[in-house]
Amino acid sequence: MSNFESSEALFSQSLKLVPGGVHSPVRSFKGMTTTPRFMEKAYGAYIQEVNGKNYIDFCMSFGPLILGHKDPEVEVELKKALERGWSYGACEPYSLQLATMIKNKIPFIEQIRFVNSGTEAVMTAIRLARGFTKKDKIIKFNGCYHGHADAMLIKAGSGLAGTSEASSEGIPKGVAQDTIVVELNDLNSVKAAFETHKNQIAAVIIEPLPANNGLLIQDQSFLEAIRALCTKEQTLLIFDEVISGFRVAFGGMAEKTGITPDIVTYGKIIGGGLPVGAIAAKTNIMSKLAPIGGVYQAGTLSANPLAMIGGMATLSKLTPDAYKKLERYTNNIAEIFTTWLNKNGYSDIKMVHQSSLFWFIPSNAEVKSIGAIPANLTEKFNKMFYDLLERGIYLAPNAYEVGFVSLAHDETLQKELSKRLGL
Ligand SMILES: *Cc1c(COP(=O)(O)O)cnc(C)c1O
Repeated sequence: MSNFESSEALFSQSLKLVPGGVHSPVRSFKGMTTTPRFMEKAYGAYIQEVNGKNYIDFCMSFGPLILGHKDPEVEVELKKALERGWSYGACEPYSLQLATMIKNKIPFIEQIRFVNSGTEAVMTAIRLARGFTKKDKIIKFNGCYHGHADAMLIKAGSGLAGTSEASSEGIPKGVAQDTIVVELNDLNSVKAAFETHKNQIAAVIIEPLPANNGLLIQDQSFLEAIRALCTKEQTLLIFDEVISGFRVAFGGMAEKTGITPDIVTYGKIIGGGLPVGAIAAKTNIMSKLAPIGGVYQAGTLSANPLAMIGGMATLSKLTPDAYKKLERYTNNIAEIFTTWLNKNGYSDIKMVHQSSLFWFIPSNAEVKSIGAIPANLTEKFNKMFYDLLERGIYLAPNAYEVGFVSLAHDETLQKELSKRLGL
């Protein structure tokens, strides 16, 4: 047992000190009948609550931990890095090594800049695209999440077709009007936006595997058509691979689909659980960034040496064999969950999965856009979530979040999963 109080007691203290008791909204268990679990440590595929109860973790820090928690080899490297100090505010060799590793494996990348989060990477990519093209407007897709920069917290307007409005308070109308929101799996909506805003679109930004509002797997032909449109309209294509980068393949969806974006953004796995984000592109685009170009961008803690080592130690374990294992583990886990769902009154829920990402959805149809998500999703999910939590299985506490399989979710873990599910 630990020295901490129970999760319930900690949450009631936290509610007084922190808005909603959490430092990121998705941790809040909003709409659930139970309060957030406070975790004190984690190892492999397990995460442990302050009362000593452990859970099989399928949230995995929302994506970064592709090796599992506290991978022993990463731990060794981080301990060595700690000995050397943890921030220099000066040039260091570690970011150079990480950048080289990435560039060597992802052919379209010529230059990289490291930042501290996915949000920061996207914010920079948008400014860079605007500076490079000298255009102002951005097209984004309903159902894709790109972090919380102002320009990205925009949804389709409720009034006139083709208008947009902020999805958060505090965002000026002037910002909202420069982001145009279109629908996934609907090429006509993209074409219409290009027509309406002729020669004004700096960039189209998309999660090539949308995984922040359920797992909305897009057709290859749709992604190819967007690439072609961007080229024709002299608009930059930004692949936001914060979640899919190093996850579906080392080179993310760009590698998997063979489609080359003009700018790519990374986050999550690139830091292996330490705060890292990155933007990458060809040199002609990247050289628009300060100090050589006119697009300003900076960061006190950017390319933090500890975070660079965390990223490098993580990425260096992502061999082709690792991706084969992840695929196999995910297939096995899908089989286990499917058996359990069918035996326990959840037979209307299906587990869809792609690479090592998965999503539970009460539908048999292929869901490729927001409009196709069943209205009863949250109600169905919340009941199942609580049932799993009681059995010592932890999912992200929201129906629209995906689950993640890591290399720690191996055959031994799968046996334990079956046991906890009573199979
Ligand atoms: C998580 C995520 C972000 C935001 O990254 P943060 O590190 O949370 O700021 C942006 N885009 C995508 C696709 C993401 O999955």
